[in-house]
Amino acid sequence: MWKAVLEAKRVGARAFGMFLRSQRSWNSKSLDDEAAEKFQSTCQECGFESCYILPHSPYLMNLGSPKEGTLLPFLLSDSKSVYFPPYPLPFISCCLDVFLKSRAMLVEELGRCKQLGLTLYNIHPGSRVGAISVTECIKRIADGINYAHSQVPDVTVVLENMSCQGSTIGGHFEELREIIDHITDKSRIGVCLDTCHAFAAGHNLADEAGVKLMIDTFSKIVGISYLKAVHLNDSKGEVGCHLDRHENIGQGYIGLEGFRQVMNEPRFDGIPMILETPYNPDFEDYSTEIGLLYSLCS
Ligand SMILES: [Zn+2]
Repeated sequence: MWKAVLEAKRVGARAFGMFLRSQRSWNSKSLDDEAAEKFQSTCQECGFESCYILPHSPYLMNLGSPKEGTLLPFLLSDSKSVYFPPYPLPFISCCLDVFLKSRAMLVEELGRCKQLGLTLYNIHPGSRVGAISVTECIKRIADGINYAHSQVPDVTVVLENMSCQGSTIGGHFEELREIIDHITDKSRIGVCLDTCHAFAAGHNLADEAGVKLMIDTFSKIVGISYLKAVHLNDSKGEVGCHLDRHENIGQGYIGLEGFRQVMNEPRFDGIPMILETPYNPDFEDYSTEIGLLYSLCS
């Protein structure tokens, strides 16, 4: 994990994002103290403060999952017996529904942040999977976050805006606001603005007026004090396409002029800006895009 810190330093980054476990599995090994200490000391040596490091949740997590929590009796084929709770732990984990597993995962992930000395944790709010109302889904997401807050202190959960693709929650700023309204400890909730997602959701970030309008709208609906980070991605799809398809900076429909405005926007000062752009064989590594973005700053 500490190698991610060195890599961020090597490519000239001043902030970075990372996954704290495998992105596609519910289970993961616990983090040993030695690795956590090594991560913290490397951050210190490389000059990265925790407010510029934004870990990202695994894609499996869905705090808005509509499936009800049913613990089904577990049939053991060898003994032909039906066991009721308490089950041995591995059995529980395969019976629990996505909501409960997501909630447990969030607790575990915030615990990892604590262990690593990190203070921010980015999540995709969730999806109603077409099965429940937006309001109901928002309530579930907020419940999950409130629960995780009650289990792990200090770490701020950062909600990422979405592209309005399918049943995902968070494409409209009003939905982010509504989640925040349900959070008990508002000092530990924030938002990360993803430029590709915002563009796909209908905010035209290709020029100065569009960037200003998006931030004004965000300030009015959510409140600029909740803005904790920006994800910098160009968009493969046109404005309002609702598709979550990231493109390299300057090569999509947002384009360089849009990113010039984003990079020079004073309301984005002092927060981490993180690239999530696709691999590009023409680029050496992220240093190419980082250099390009710095060159846009006036
Ligand atoms: Zn993002």
